[in-house]
This record gives sequence, C-alpha cells and structure tokens, in this order.
Amino acid sequence: MPDDEPVEESVEMAIADVDKVAKPKPKPKRKKPQKRPQKKAKKTIRVAHEMSADRRKEIKLALKEHESEHRDEWDRSSGQKSHVIMRKRVKPGQMRTLMVNLLDVEIGDAWPIPITVIHGSRPGPVVTITGGIHGDELTGPSACTHLLSTSMTDPERPLDPLHIAGTIRIIPIINLPGYRNKSRYFPDGRDLNREFPGRIKGNTTSRVAHRLWHDVIKGSDYLIDLHSAAKGRINMPQVRANLADPHSNIVAKAFGIEVILDSKPPKGSLRRTAINAGIGCMTYEGGGADNIDHESTQVAVNGVLNVLKSLHVIPGNPTRPRFRLLAQGSTWLRAGEGGLLDMWVGPSSVVEEGEIVATISDPAHPGLTVDIIAPGDGLMICTATNPHVSAGTPVGHFLPLSKHAELIRSQLDENNMFIIAGSEDEPVWREEVEVDEISLEGEWSGGSVDAEWQTAFTGDSESGEAGSRIS
Ligand SMILES: [Zn+2]
Repeated sequence: MPDDEPVEESVEMAIADVDKVAKPKPKPKRKKPQKRPQKKAKKTIRVAHEMSADRRKEIKLALKEHESEHRDEWDRSSGQKSHVIMRKRVKPGQMRTLMVNLLDVEIGDAWPIPITVIHGSRPGPVVTITGGIHGDELTGPSACTHLLSTSMTDPERPLDPLHIAGTIRIIPIINLPGYRNKSRYFPDGRDLNREFPGRIKGNTTSRVAHRLWHDVIKGSDYLIDLHSAAKGRINMPQVRANLADPHSNIVAKAFGIEVILDSKPPKGSLRRTAINAGIGCMTYEGGGADNIDHESTQVAVNGVLNVLKSLHVIPGNPTRPRFRLLAQGSTWLRAGEGGLLDMWVGPSSVVEEGEIVATISDPAHPGLTVDIIAPGDGLMICTATNPHVSAGTPVGHFLPLSKHAELIRSQLDENNMFIIAGSEDEPVWREEVEVDEISLEGEWSGGSVDAEWQTAFTGDSESGEAGSRIS
C-alpha cells in the first residue's frame, strides 16, 4: 500500500477473546428455527501513519506474530486469590490503601507512599497506574486522585471491586519527596525515571527504583505511566509507546486518543524496563509541570478507564477516537535569538507551512523582533510557557503532518486547536448534585481578598519555589 494512504484498521483486538472462555454458550431455544444473530457491523477507525515504511513493516510483523492477550491464569472460572504486595495482603473484592516505604532506613524518613490496590473478585490482569514519577508533574497525581474518588470506587460505580476482573493498582505520586519539594527530581538530584531497574547497593534514587521495580511494578501485566511536560512547557494530550511491542501497542490504542507517538523509551526509564520484562506499557503526556489543566486530567482519566474496559477488567465499552495518528518523526523548533518569547500558538494548535509560531523580542533592542516559522504543515504537540529564551531554547515540539493535515483539520475548534477525544464530555468523576447555598452572617476579617495571594506567591515557578500553597 502506498505510504500516503490512510489505511482502515480493524478495531477488534486480540484481547476481545479473553471474555469468551468463561461465558457459557447460550442454549439453543426449542425447535423454533434458529435466527442467525445479526452480523455486527465491524467498526473501523481511520489510521494515519506518519512513519517510515520500514518501521510500519516492523510493527506489522510484531503484531502478526502475537496471537492473543489471553493467559490461563486470567480464566474467570479459576478462583481469585488474594493480591500480595510487599507482604501485605488484599482479599478478592476488596480495596485497600497500603503505605509502602521507598527506602530502608533506621533513623530518618523511609519515604512512605500510598498505593491503592483494587483487587477484583474475579481473576484477570494486573494493571498498574503511576503518576508523579517526576515530582512536579501533577496531571498523573490529579488523574489518580479522581480515579480513587468515591464517585469511581463506590458500589456500582466504574471501579467497584466487586465488578472487577483482575487487579488495579494506583500509585498517585511515586516521587513523593520530589512532589513535596515541587521538583522533578529525587532529593539527591537524580531523575527517578532514568534509574530503573535500580540497584540495591546503588545511589539513593537507584535503591528506590530497585525497590519499586522488584516489589511493586514487576508483578504487573500492564502499566500506564502518567506524565506532563517539564517546567516551562505544556504538552498536548498524547500517548507514547513502542508500537512494535504487541502488548504496549494494544494498551496504547486502547487508551482511545488520536495521537500516538511511536517511541523507544530512554535508558533507565520505567517504560523501557517494563517492556523488557514483558509488561505492556505506555506513557501518557498531558499538561505542564506545576499546573493542573482540566482537559489533560480528564483525557487521562478517560484513557485509563478505556484501557481497563478494553482489557475486560471493568465492564463497559471503551470509547474510540474518530481516527488515530501513529507518528514517528517530530522536531523541536528552537529560538534563534535570545530574548522574550511571545507564543502565537499553544499545545494542539494546527499550523501551516510558513505560519508564525512565535516571536522573540529583545528588550535591549526594542523594535527588532525575530519570528519562528512553522517548517511545514503540522501539529504543535508541546509549546513553551516560559518567556525567557536564549538562542537554542526549544519553543515548540512540532509534529510534521506531511500527508494527513486534512484529517487533523477536520477536528478543530474555532481557535484552530485540535480537539482530543474525551476532552469535551462531562468529567466522569463528577456527579450532578444539587447545591444548597448557605449564607453566613458577620464581617469579613481576612483583609483584602487577594492579600494572601500576594504574600504567599512571591516565588518564581521556574526555580521551583512557588511559595506555600493556599489551602
Ligand atoms: Zn515526566
């Protein structure tokens, strides 16, 4: 097939077979001539490829060799045992939050982090969801917190343990010490997401990675790692996965959003370590550091529920995007000069060749400005939020759409921003409740309404010292 043709791809996934094992065959009704069940129309999703023919071939071959996600131990007819994590036991049909120490210490802080295990009453895959591996990235912690809210885990709600087949383990903030410091890094200055699988006698971060990997994450069948952009940038909601790894390919597509970047994870990352151990793994990127944006959180929550539905861990049909864009090549647009950056576009903006993406002005030379121009038709998957730039600073992550710009343009809002699947619905964790307004008598004694804001937020978010948060 020529490279520039979007192909039709079957949505039916191998994992759809998992359910078949346990379901008893319907008994044929009495002598009546059997009605043949109406053939279900096979739904298709358009798939646009922005990747090399060689890589496509490699992915196709890997998927062809892969038959099914079914494993005997997930058979619904076999009994469900307790789930054990760090010698703590969670019984079938139970949800339990465990405190797990990241480090062995005799004196000092052992860095306990909460891990919630929702252990279904029936067998199935173990799916681990992690957030905050970079301590200042709040999309993951926010999405995990919504997933654990009572509107999700109460009886008859989407994550009711009694309706679950398998085990869901949610770790809202892996790097809790970094989160407390409002920093991406661990207290010893290292990036936890470059230290996996870790060493028991290694540096502090490496020891934590070792414990997390061996005692917690290794026992997963699937892993969803939730991230956002680093400080000074903001990401459009997107999935990253090694599409030539069949288990990861399935999870990435099941997440149910349009843009999937085919990428091999960096050395020492949790994703790379997980894939090497046969765990189907994807990372989600949405929003920016030190910030919670509603759309990114909502897409993350929807995506996790979609994966759980696709794997038949929870009941219900996953939602699908109208099309998928599987892409490989992306480039950073960089500042040619130093100065103050004025972005003309944002994350998920669709741009045309020659369009101005940003302008840099130099306070030392008023009147002189330099434009940064889109090198082709494309989608901005990440843009800078920090206005300070020097020559070479990345200002935008550009995904060229040489062949499929029209497909993307068919799903734009009035600001030429790409609309991500799942971002427009009502948030699933919110319920419509009637609100009673109450009025309190008396004088306001807190001073000016924004007085606290002015004194508490004196820090510079770029340096990570955002001041104390108002609770
Ligand atoms: Zn991250």
